[in-house]
Amino acid sequence: METIIIILISIIAFAIAFFATLKITKMNNGEYECEICHNKITPTKKQLIFSMHSDDTRKIRCPNCNKKTWCRKI
Ligand SMILES: [Zn+2]
Repeated sequence: METIIIILISIIAFAIAFFATLKITKMNNGEYECEICHNKITPTKKQLIFSMHSDDTRKIRCPNCNKKTWCRKI
C-alpha cells in the first residue's frame, strides 16, 4: 500500500515539474523596447522567468543604456 502512495506522489511531482517546464518553454521571448533609448531588447529565458512584469511590459535591464526600465512589448 505504501508503495502505491509513493508512486502516486512521484507521478504527481513529475507532472507538476513537466508542466512547469512546458510553460517556461512556451513563453515566447518576443522583443521589448527600451523606454529611454528605444533599443530593441530580446530578453533571455532567465530574464523572462525572474523579471517583474505586467500585461505587456517587463522590467528588464537595457544592454544599450544599462538602465533598468519597464520595457514595452513590441
Ligand atoms: Zn536603453
